[in-house]
Amino acid sequence: MKPAPFEYVAPTTVAETLELLATRGTDGKLLAGGQSLVPMLNFRIARPETLIDINNVAELSYIDRRDGELHIGALTRHAELERSALVADHWPLLGEALRWVAHPPIRNRGTIGGSVAHADPAAELPVALTALDARFVAESHRGRRVLDPDEMFVGPLQSGLEPDELLVEIRIPPLARPFGCAFLELARRHGDFALGGVAVVLGRGGDRCREGGARVVLLGAGPGPRRAPEAEALLAARPVDEDAARAAGEAAGRAADPPTDPHADAGYRRHLAYVLTRRAVLRAWERT
Ligand SMILES: Cc1cc2nc3c(=O)[nH]c(=O)nc-3n(C[C@H](O)[C@H](O)[C@H](O)COP(=O)(O)OP(=O)(O)OC[C@H]3O[C@@H](n4cnc5c(N)ncnc54)[C@H](O)[C@@H]3O)c2cc1C
Repeated sequence: MKPAPFEYVAPTTVAETLELLATRGTDGKLLAGGQSLVPMLNFRIARPETLIDINNVAELSYIDRRDGELHIGALTRHAELERSALVADHWPLLGEALRWVAHPPIRNRGTIGGSVAHADPAAELPVALTALDARFVAESHRGRRVLDPDEMFVGPLQSGLEPDELLVEIRIPPLARPFGCAFLELARRHGDFALGGVAVVLGRGGDRCREGGARVVLLGAGPGPRRAPEAEALLAARPVDEDAARAAGEAAGRAADPPTDPHADAGYRRHLAYVLTRRAVLRAWERT
């Protein structure tokens, strides 16, 4: 199918984009990499009256470190993040998660802002960004606000952004060293959306994780990225070894609330949460 007719506008600045969003309201839709939106337009799942193409808004594309934090412009492509030495050196979880996202041509176009705003429960970046405790900066004609992962990933394909808001920046705090991280998932074919996955970040303090230093976040185990707080707590309470990894996996399986769909049932996905978490904890710990 082809999209329903729409008006096409291509602003070149954030200010212009915000003005367009304010006047178009719910009838306007932002176009970034188009890797999710264009199929939705073609299937007429989305029928905006105006398409606001932000690909010419150059000020939305950057990867910077400011006061130790990583600042990423919303229009930054997946491939640029994958190639960034700054990201690889200080936030390696992001690059590891991105290698699971679709295929290179899609990563050349897809943007971090589009992936966040699309809020697909099977997407890798929202899970990695939750594990990294990222913050999301949104702007509208009413001003600027900062959302945390719980506020941003509200439900399946439902972000916390208002229709007139533009996601402008993603901020990731520094990870205290020593730390180790790992991202694992299972898909039927590499590049397909995953049946399940997990992002693990472990901040080491001796033979266990520092208090509050463990993050375990599941993919495909709920309406959005799903933290496993019981698993996180036990990794700070006992030495991290095979037994602790198994216990963390079991806790992750209990935290998972996955759907049953034609691809896999909930019981299988819960088991996947257990297996992948156990493996990812051991891999992340080896890297500390
Ligand atoms: C064949 C195929 C396989 C894929 N496999 C995967 C996969 O395995 N894992 C995965 O995570 N993704 C996958 N994707 C999706 C891909 O990663 C997309 O790039 C991503 O989800 C959306 O990014 P985009 O820049 O293309 O956004 P678009 O498609 O342009 O937009 C998506 C949504 O976000 C909104 N939006 C975009 N930018 C902003 C902004 N700055 N502020 C507010 N709202 C905004 C749009 O209005 C739209 O609603 C796949 C896509 C394809 C086509």
